[in-house]
Order: sequence, then structure tokens, then C-alpha cells
Amino acid sequence: MNQCISLMLLSVLALLCCQSPTADVQQVQTKEPEARLTSVSNQQQKNPYYSRTDTTKLVLPDSTWRRVLPADVYQIARKKGTERAFTGKYWNHTGLGTYYCGACGNALFRSDAKFASDCGWPSFFEVLRKNGVTYQEDRSHGMIRVEVLCGRCDGHLGHLFDDGPPPTGKRYCMNSVVLDFEQGL
Ligand SMILES: [Zn+2]
Repeated sequence: MNQCISLMLLSVLALLCCQSPTADVQQVQTKEPEARLTSVSNQQQKNPYYSRTDTTKLVLPDSTWRRVLPADVYQIARKKGTERAFTGKYWNHTGLGTYYCGACGNALFRSDAKFASDCGWPSFFEVLRKNGVTYQEDRSHGMIRVEVLCGRCDGHLGHLFDDGPPPTGKRYCMNSVVLDFEQGL
């Protein structure tokens, strides 16, 4: 009988020992999403000029942009860089939704104006709002091209070409790095 009780006690102890690490794992798992949320809100706090509702023109010194933008976004939006073809996250992206300026949140394109282009950059045949972007002649690299800039922050987005599909015949050739996509129309 005594032996039986000892065995039971041992079993209970063994169970307790087994359960405690499991409880620890569960605790860690419940903490993870909170940590992710904190890091997202930290990113938003870093760029206080980002807004998807405020359309007020932004005129900020270069030093401010350098501080609030991620390095890759800064390089393209403020230094007119270009991401390598077929490397961006949106060149072959097909979700339904809206594309915003990655530097300031300005609404730029709807997914129904995006078309499959083999150029390696996300391509659209029309902008969401006429004043959503501005245009400027670009004579760099021995070519004459039309540069497309964000209408709110003047950030470089890409170039406009005349070889797009109907109905406009235009191709807005954009850099994925300076676009933010949100699902849902
Ligand atoms: Zn912008």
C-alpha cells in the first residue's frame, strides 16, 4: 500500500515537472504578438508625417527625411534611386487594394489600374487622383524621361512611359520600395 502511495506521489511529481515547462512556453507565446505590435507602433512613431488621410503638402528638410525614413525608402524617395528590376515586393503583386506613398501615406494607385508588365517594376496605367502625383522632366543617364513624384511629399516614385495598355496607353513604372499596399478597395 505504502509503495502504491509512493508511486502515486512520484507520478504526480513527474506530471508537475512536465507541466511547468509547457506553462512557460505558453507564456512566451502569448507575449509574442504584443512585442510585434510594439515594434510596428515604434515605426509609425518614427515617421510622424506619414498619414493616409492628411493631404496637406509636406515640405521638410532633407535631414528630417533622413531621420524619419527607412534607409531604402530614403534612398529612392529623396535621392531618386531605383530598385533593381524583379527585386521589389510589388512587381508581380496581384492583391486587390490601394497603393500609398511609402514615405508620406498619400494614396497613389488602385490595384485595378495595375497591369502585368514584364519590366520588373510595379506598373499602373493611371493614378488614383489627378493631383496625387506631379511630373518633372528627367534628363539623367543620357535619356529624356518623365519623372513621377508624390504630390504630397515630392518624393521620387519612378517614371512615366507611353507604352502602357488601353485605356490610357500610359505606364507608371514605380519602385516597390516607395509604395505601401493595403488590402481592400
Ligand atoms: Zn509621398
